[in-house]
Amino acid sequence: MIMLCERCCAQIAESEPVVRLAHIDHARPDGTIVWRHSFLHNGGCPAPRTAAHERPDTGSWDPARGIGGLREH
Ligand SMILES: [Zn+2]
Repeated sequence: MIMLCERCCAQIAESEPVVRLAHIDHARPDGTIVWRHSFLHNGGCPAPRTAAHERPDTGSWDPARGIGGLREH
């Protein structure tokens, strides 16, 4: 079963400590309750990371360009 954290939406691994929350889905005519479960990371959620396609392209540094005023002409 894949568990997704309700707080950060990341997947929770089987080996990670988890908080399981029970929510009432509905009650049957005989009075029994059907439960739905959701999950949270117990040890804190991982820091959010921007998706690769949403990160700005800062380019890479070309050392041949030198640094501003220090460049020899
Ligand atoms: Zn989380």
